[in-house]
Amino acid sequence: MIKLPGAMNNIQMVDLDGQYRSIQPQIDQAIAKVLQEGRFIKGEEVGLFEQELAEYTGAKHVIACANGTDALQIALMALQLQPGDEVIVPAFTYVATGEVIALLGLVPVFVDVNPDTFNIEISQVEQLINSRTKAIIPVHLYGQCCDMEGLLAVADKFGIHVVEDTAQGIGALYSFNNGSSKQAGTMGTIGTTSFFPSKNLGCYGDGGALFTNDDDLALRIRMIGNHGQARQYYHEIVGVNSRLDTLQAAILRIKLRHLNEYSKARNLVAERYDAALVNDERYNNPARDPKSTHVFNQYTLRVNGINRDQLREYLKENNIPSMVYYPLPLHQQNAYNRYNHNDQLLQNSIFLCKEVISLPIHTEMKAKTQEYIIGKILAF
Ligand SMILES: *Cc1c(COP(=O)(O)O)cnc(C)c1O
Repeated sequence: MIKLPGAMNNIQMVDLDGQYRSIQPQIDQAIAKVLQEGRFIKGEEVGLFEQELAEYTGAKHVIACANGTDALQIALMALQLQPGDEVIVPAFTYVATGEVIALLGLVPVFVDVNPDTFNIEISQVEQLINSRTKAIIPVHLYGQCCDMEGLLAVADKFGIHVVEDTAQGIGALYSFNNGSSKQAGTMGTIGTTSFFPSKNLGCYGDGGALFTNDDDLALRIRMIGNHGQARQYYHEIVGVNSRLDTLQAAILRIKLRHLNEYSKARNLVAERYDAALVNDERYNNPARDPKSTHVFNQYTLRVNGINRDQLREYLKENNIPSMVYYPLPLHQQNAYNRYNHNDQLLQNSIFLCKEVISLPIHTEMKAKTQEYIIGKILAF
């Protein structure tokens, strides 16, 4: 018999306040410094953060921008895709990944995901490629890398670009068969990430970045993010205005120093969930891809034979928040269902939307709080 602790309040999906308090003196000092210097746009912290993130990830170039959605848009603009070009994108992802494709007049082509890893189903990619296919956007969903070995092989064979959406996977490490390993975001043509507060490396507002190992692409990305100008007031190409604030860069420099420890803390929480739920057949623990480490932006279960929404309601009654990432696949969204797709090929995305549930996971989770959550889930 498991002894249940009494009711608990204040359980959060993500404890940003607790994390802030753990590094408050450094953060407050960094913010004060930016305020005193007054260089809120293009202050030196931005360039320093870019350098430090390049060192951390192993990417040759890091270019910061305003958010993760902009990063995706700028990536596709830098690849100079033309209206009507096709871009393959998972149907089971956050909307931003598909949105930027449509926004640029490109055509999203939806691919299914693997029901165990939730990541792109590589075996399906090849049949979706035709002469108009110019790029594919794998999403390292919930914090685990896609099968990049398989994906890069297909992309190479057909000469298409790979833009890795690393918004949820920063810091995850992927091992290739030849023994080399690379971080999420640094394996494709371009990688993108988000510093939205609840992401693994989150700032206190919006932020994003692009990664590339290609010198020419890096220059082009920088130009596009800065109104297409190489020098001030001379515009070579059509660009956008997408900058990371100096304040956010200063905050991110502090938090980057803790990212490994944050990933470890998230893994510890995930292991405790795994161990507690593995023998309950109503819950399918998230599968680990042996070729990737996991940074657990989300801990996402699949329910088996029980009603997911009833479980959520019950958890809520017990003050336990949960989330569904995501309740509707992209190809069934009103904004995107007009794009050609084959429902038969997207069955996993459809049923996952009904079966997934994400549990609280963050860097400040106390063992006691988690015991309470687990106790309630088992008692459902
Ligand atoms: C958060 C997220 C984005 C968008 O990032 P923003 O900074 O919110 O624009 C893109 N893709 C995925 C998979 C995400 O989780």
